[in-house]
Order: sequence, then structure tokens, then C-alpha cells
Amino acid sequence: MGFVENKISSVIELCEDPTPDPAGIIIFGASGDLSFRKLIPSIFKLFKNRKLINFYILGVGRSNLSDKDFRERILETLNFDRDLVKKFIDHVYFLSGNYDDDNLYINLKEKINILNKKHNAKNNRLFYFATPPNVYLPIINHLGKFKLNEENGNFARMIIEKPFGNNLESAKKLDYELHKYLNEKQIYRIDHYLGKETVQNILMMRFANIVFEPIWNYKYIDHVQITVSEDLGVENRIGYFENTGLLRDMFQNHILQLLTLIAIEPPASLEANMIHDEKIKVLKSIRPFEYDTLDEYVIRGQYTDGYINGELKKSYMEEVGKNTNTETFVAVKMFIDNWRWSGVPFYIRSGKRLKKKLSEVSIVFKNVPHSIFSDFYPVKIEPNSLVIRIQPDEGFKLILQAKQPGSKMCINTLNMEFKYRNFFDYEPQDAYERLILDALLGDQTLYVRNDVMEESWKLVTPILQRWENEKSDLYYYPSGSWGPKESYRLIEKDGRRWRDYENI
Ligand code: NDP
Repeated sequence: MGFVENKISSVIELCEDPTPDPAGIIIFGASGDLSFRKLIPSIFKLFKNRKLINFYILGVGRSNLSDKDFRERILETLNFDRDLVKKFIDHVYFLSGNYDDDNLYINLKEKINILNKKHNAKNNRLFYFATPPNVYLPIINHLGKFKLNEENGNFARMIIEKPFGNNLESAKKLDYELHKYLNEKQIYRIDHYLGKETVQNILMMRFANIVFEPIWNYKYIDHVQITVSEDLGVENRIGYFENTGLLRDMFQNHILQLLTLIAIEPPASLEANMIHDEKIKVLKSIRPFEYDTLDEYVIRGQYTDGYINGELKKSYMEEVGKNTNTETFVAVKMFIDNWRWSGVPFYIRSGKRLKKKLSEVSIVFKNVPHSIFSDFYPVKIEPNSLVIRIQPDEGFKLILQAKQPGSKMCINTLNMEFKYRNFFDYEPQDAYERLILDALLGDQTLYVRNDVMEESWKLVTPILQRWENEKSDLYYYPSGSWGPKESYRLIEKDGRRWRDYENI
């Protein structure tokens, strides 16, 4: 009994997040949507959980805000214990200025020195780039010019928001500029999907259990499906989305990252580079999209008006206010040409204004080789599936066949379901909370390494070029549906179908 108790308490200790070294968190674009909706609440949670003790937050932006103004906005926004929020905002400051003006960085350096002393933050700096990407380069160049990138025994790290470039060429250019002043260990390319609990659990599930790995290959898996859907449209991010489109916004980063975790070989260890090395192998094995046959593998769509939860929603073009070919939906069929995945199709669909908000991966296994039940039950036995639910209601579901109770040998489908909320007593952690803590701790495992980012751009850039250079069909779908009919054809012509989300 004593042994078991000791083991449990040591596991709990091991599972505690370490406390990072003192540091300042400097947010460029701190007056914006991301900062108020995600970053500041996540940093507050770290403070509340006593992961941040000697620290300060310095918001930077063009807005003419005083420390007091910025603090008041935070006080209005954070819906937590007011006394605690008041203590938190004692650590918060704001600096106004233009990103291409030397004076901003002269003032920034001075303010950092003052705040380091005031908050015992050593001289550790975590810079968060939460501005539109067109100002990343002026900021990086000025940080370099004023030596704010230098470590000298302390740390200087940069979290760079997506989109990291707009295509392969611009991503490489941004990376080149970053590397003029920083080494790879200082660069944290964020993909918030990687901070989600269930996404991290994919590695644990695959490599901490013996039962999955022997069947995790082309011999037993018929195909893999990934659906990442949102019921929201572009909302207040029209300008951003119009220049980006869904392929860049979701597929190039979140979905490819998810796919690599499903497909990678066991890494030698959990060390960040070991995982990135395996991801690169997967990305390099993905069959490139051919210019001439692209339409057989990639379907793009755009939402028209339609009803979601009884409410009429506008079409994308009405929202943008002009004719546009920007895609709000993509469905893709792809192959990973390696030993494990030879011949196994991966079907992926993602879009805005679909029926439900949901992110799920389904591993659909092959049929049994021969049914001994066919005399009793002349219906085809449904194959087994393992469903990994990333959001909402995170968990796993194993879909099996079982005997329906009764005198006959009738089959019925059984869902063995595990939901996080039923098993673990935990307060869900926002992905940004996890990722900011990791950056403070210097752990790059859940961030994207430069070669991984480049390889994913290499994959999607030919698609983007084809869409830009040649008229490629854009299919329309009503808001509140599951996408254009052609996305069904993509999978049904292979004798398969999308998982049915109508009744779940
Ligand atoms: P915002 O459009 O809200 O911009 C953030 C801040 O940047 C603004 O408050 C503004 O502050 C400043 N800014 C705006 N335009 C310019 C400009 N042309 N030049 C210089 N500064 C400007 O962006 P978000 O907060 O939505 O996003 C920030 C970054 O995070 C973007 O790169 C975005 O792609 C990425 N991102 C955002 C997500 C979100 O949910 N919002 C999700 C994932 C990524 P000020 O006027 O004070 O300078």
C-alpha cells in the first residue's frame, strides 16, 4: 500500500509544471484581439497558478495608452477574482510607439531595464509577436539593431504568430531575417493546435500502449479522416482572411501538424528535436500534389448564405462586399509514400460556417477478411474505427461490433468512449497557457521547427500557385452544411464516406 501511495505522489510531483525563471513578457500588438482574448488571460492563469512570480508584462503598440489605461482594460476584460486581477495588473505596463521608429526601441530598452530591477526579472525576455505579420520584419530588425536579441547569460526568445509567411518564398525570407539576429533555439513558431491536450495525447496514446502500434499501418488501416470544422464565419477578421484563405489558415499549419502526429514513427525520445526529426520524415514522404491532377485531390469551396441553429447567415461574398475566389473550405485526399502508410488515403476536410464546430481524427480500420456471421446476418460488417476527438468534449472512441442481446446472432455497433471530463479532475488549460509556459521554460517540443515549417509550405505552395495561375473550380456550399457536394464525391468515388456527424 505504502509503495502505491509513494508512487502516486511521485507521479503527481513529476506531472507538476516546473516554475520558469523570472522574466519579462513583451507583447507587440498588445492592444489587439489575440492579446486580450488569449494571451493576457493565459498569462493571468499562469500567475494564478503561481507559475509566474517575478515577472512583468510590457504591452507595446501604436495606440496611445498609458499603463493605467492598459491596466483598466485588463481589469474590465478578465472575469476572475477581482483582488487577484488587481495584484496581477501591478505587473503590467504599456509602451506606445511606431514599429519603424528607433525611438520606440530606445524607450523599450530603457523600460526593460527599469522593469527588470523593479520585478527582479533578471534580464530574461520573452517577446510575443501579436501584430499583423507585415510588421514582423521591422520589429526583428530593430530588436537586432538595439541588441535586444542578445542573451549574454539570460534568455531572449521570440514567439512568432501565424501566418509564418504567405508561401514558401516569404516564409523562407522571414526565417532568413530572423536568423540574422537569432539562433533557432530563440525562435518559437507557434501553432496553438499543438498546445491542445488531446493533440498532445496522440503521442501518449500511440506510444504508451502496446495495443495500437502493431495495427497502426497499411495492413490494418483502410484510411484516415480528419475533419476540422467551424460553425463561425470569418467574423471580424475579413481583411486577414481575404488575403489568406483556408488552405493557409488551417491546412498548412494546424492540420498538417495533426497529421504528422498521427503518422510519425516512434521518436527516439520526447526531446523536441527527436519529435521534429520524425515529423520532417512524414512531411517529406507526403506525395506532392501534381499541377495537372490537382482537382482530383483538392476541392475548394466557399460558403453561401444558409441557416445555422435557425439563424440565417450571410454568404462570404456578402460579408466581404465583393466578388472573390477566396476559399473558406478545402477537402484534400493525400498519401504518405512510406512503408507504414503505403496506399492508405488520408481524407481531410476543413471549413468555416459548417454545421458544427468540431475537430476529429478517425482511424478507420479494414474489414474483417471473412465474415462467419453472413448466414445469420447478411449485412456487411462495419469496420472498426478509432476516433480521436480534439474539440469539443475531448476524448477517444473505439467503435467495435458486438452481439445484440437476444436469441439470434445479430450484430450491433458498440461505442467504447472515453471523455476527458469523465476521468480526470482537471481545469481545462488553454493551449496558449501551455505554450507560453513552455516558451518561458525553453521547451520547443510543441513549437514548429524551421525545416518542418518549410516542408509544409513546400507541400501547399504548388496548390496556391495553381489556384492563382489557372482558373480552378470553386464550389459553393450553404452555411450550415458539411461543405460542397464535390467534397463528398472526393471520398465516395473511392467507395468510402465521411463520418456521419448528424447524430452526435
Ligand atoms: P489585430 O488586427 O487585432 O492587431 C493586433 C494589434 O496590432 C492591433 O491592436 C494594433 O495595435 C496593431 N496593428 C494593427 N494593424 C497594424 C499595422 N498595420 N501596423 C502596425 N500595427 C498594427 O490582430 P490579432 O490580435 O487578431 O492578431 C495578431 C496576430 O496573431 C496576427 O498575426 C494574427 O494572424 C495572429 N493570430 C490571431 C488570432 C486571433 O484569434 N486573433 C489567432 C491566431 C493567430 P496598435 O494600433 O496599438 O498598434
